[in-house]
Amino acid sequence: MLKKVLIANRGEIALRILRACKELGIKTVAAHSKTDVNLKHVLLADETVCIGPNPSSQSYLNVPAIISAMEITNADAVHPGYGFLAENADFAEQVEKSGFIFIGPTAGVIRMMGDKVAAIDAMRKAGVPTVPGSNGPLTDDEDRSRAVGLEVGYPVIIKAAAGGGGRGMRVVREESELLKAIQVTRSEAKSAFGDETVYMEKFLENPRHVEVQVLSDGQGNAIHLGDRDCSLQRRHQKVLEEAPAPGIPDDARQQVLEACVNACVKIGYRGAGTFEFLYENGQFFFIEMNTRVQVEHPVTEMITGVDIVKQQLLIASGEKLSLRQSDIIFRGHSFECRINAEDPVTFMPSPGKITAYHPPGGNGVRVDSHIYAGYTVPPYYDSLVGKIITYGQTREAALSRMANALDELHIEGIKTNITLQRDLVCDANFRKGGVNIHYLEKKLNL
Ligand code: ADP
Repeated sequence: MLKKVLIANRGEIALRILRACKELGIKTVAAHSKTDVNLKHVLLADETVCIGPNPSSQSYLNVPAIISAMEITNADAVHPGYGFLAENADFAEQVEKSGFIFIGPTAGVIRMMGDKVAAIDAMRKAGVPTVPGSNGPLTDDEDRSRAVGLEVGYPVIIKAAAGGGGRGMRVVREESELLKAIQVTRSEAKSAFGDETVYMEKFLENPRHVEVQVLSDGQGNAIHLGDRDCSLQRRHQKVLEEAPAPGIPDDARQQVLEACVNACVKIGYRGAGTFEFLYENGQFFFIEMNTRVQVEHPVTEMITGVDIVKQQLLIASGEKLSLRQSDIIFRGHSFECRINAEDPVTFMPSPGKITAYHPPGGNGVRVDSHIYAGYTVPPYYDSLVGKIITYGQTREAALSRMANALDELHIEGIKTNITLQRDLVCDANFRKGGVNIHYLEKKLNL
């Protein structure tokens, strides 16, 4: 078992990791930036190390500082959380080369999943359903690109292999726009990601975002923990998530879940991971794999009872998965509302001092948050200040608990999106279940 874990992240996920470590009797080191000295997990950790000034480029992304902090504190592993260095293959490689454990997959797998062309290729070969498309990079051969476009059928989308965060893609509605779009996406990709590789996919008009959570030990054992629906997004940022995804036929669900498990075994996946799909007309289409814990992991924990972060720690310790697929019983429904320090109308970040804070509570309500009254939200990082998660035996019960929880939640001193979340939870179409990825932006008239 790991003895000491360095937490190379901040905010709610750092606190989440700290709690899991404590439950397993693992000592913790909080690596933090200068301003983050008052973060809740820093106050609770066994040891703390300041790894640099406030900008994340000099602290949470500062690889030499993080590795030195592991050396100084004699930590044996690093948990990267999500964001920052979590999907940085070079970081994972350097950690392991320095003799420490990276809590996540091998650098090779992270690198493959970071290259979308390679990732989609590996998934298709492993039997995971992918979006019809160019099955590899587009070349300079214009006739071939046109032929692929005709075969796939318009509209299509041109995407950068190295793209991320919803950047580096362009929809093409007719053949006359194709070559120009390829050229523009290529040059944008080159300047944004340093890699001009682009590929083509069928553009799905009204898909939902449905994803599958997996656990795999890298020793031949893998299971799934079901699916989540994260279709409510604004600018590709998820806002409100739920598990399970509503209204998916049993056979389609079962097929995709099994395909993900098989793929994990086939690629030697190690750790917790998420297969992201677009879901349209009863079909799943793989778009990418996230090789880390995700913000929305609690909704899966609520309906399975499995602690995903503890599982990450156990797998990183070299233990075989002790859970079998038959041990996983799916019960009830769960929602997560992300609470951001931002203006609910303009979405501008709203850092500042929290003068009063009253979290919700009661049966079936979970709050994952690092904030407290008197805490100052710094302007340097993501605006997520917490997550309200509810559970219910039915979808309706979990939703009405969420409405109550949002009513009880009270944060003063900064602006938050609580009112927007309250609005969404009451939205008639959302309550019916199964809205698509454009729904929120349309509702906001964007
Ligand atoms: P990123 O890594 O930038 O998040 P993804 O491949 O996950 O890129 O795509 C991001 C978003 O772009 C998806 O969630 C979806 O909204 C949209 N998108 C991507 N591919 C397609 C497609 N083939 N058809 C329709 N929308 C797509």
